[in-house]
Amino acid sequence: MASTKSQRIGMIGFGPFAQFLAKTMIRQGHIISATSRSDYTHLCSQLGVSFFRDASAFLESGNDVILLSTSILSLSQVIKALPLECLKQPTLFVDVLSVKEHPRDLMLQVLPHDSDVLCTHPMFGPESGKDGWKDLPLMFDKVRIRNEAACSDFLQIFATEGCKMMEMSCEEHDEFSARSQFLTHTVGRVLAEMEVEPTPIDTKGFQKLVQVKESTSRDSFDLFSGLFVHNRFAQQQLRNLELALASIKLRLESRSEELEQS
Ligand code: NAP
Repeated sequence: MASTKSQRIGMIGFGPFAQFLAKTMIRQGHIISATSRSDYTHLCSQLGVSFFRDASAFLESGNDVILLSTSILSLSQVIKALPLECLKQPTLFVDVLSVKEHPRDLMLQVLPHDSDVLCTHPMFGPESGKDGWKDLPLMFDKVRIRNEAACSDFLQIFATEGCKMMEMSCEEHDEFSARSQFLTHTVGRVLAEMEVEPTPIDTKGFQKLVQVKESTSRDSFDLFSGLFVHNRFAQQQLRNLELALASIKLRLESRSEELEQS
């Protein structure tokens, strides 16, 4: 496994996903700092992360990389409130949001022109990545990169862990992810709404359905809402799901009528 050059990485938003990323980054020898809406001073001191309550002091502290890991729904408010004049040097901004066109557009609109912008989506989380990141996909789009070395150093963190490095545009990502991740979360939420629970005679297929319900319900509702609100391809997938259910219902009802008449 290739080693990575030690980087100073500042995280904005220190929720479950940032905490999960921070642990691996620290193990690799990177220096992590964080700021967040809530006070994570205690947790950060246990993890070896410097926590800043004050965003100005955080930005002044001279990070190589600033990683945005807020909820999808709050990114706009958070990024617009940053005192960006406190940045001391051109910095690489990276986001890890589960939608990609929305943070790309916001970062290009709000960040200083001398900041580089890398959009990423690690396609795994604290549960699926708990035993390591090997072969798990890391999607990335080099949206505005002038300092190739800094960008490549950051991506190396994931390559070193054995991630499948997938370069694609933010638009392609959102189209794929509406068809895969958004659909998975929607079906999981529907199963949770139906209060689906294991039975004594579960088939393997049903056990997988229960797993989908449980894994998607562990993520915050904010995350799920963000997958819908800020992915322009999600609406169509929701419609497709509704149409498919209605069409299957119709086929079953007409089959049942046919059998009754025969
Ligand atoms: P999340 O619920 O999507 O986001 C939690 C983070 O957002 C916390 O840092 C929270 O701050 C911040 N936040 C929420 N509302 C806010 C507001 N109104 N103002 C300021 N900050 C606010 O949970 P997450 O799992 O940690 O995900 C973080 C990001 O990573 C999301 O964009 C998600 O799409 C992405 N992601 C998650 C996973 C995963 O498996 N969980 C995988 C890949 C990517 P406080 O904690 O300080 O309140």
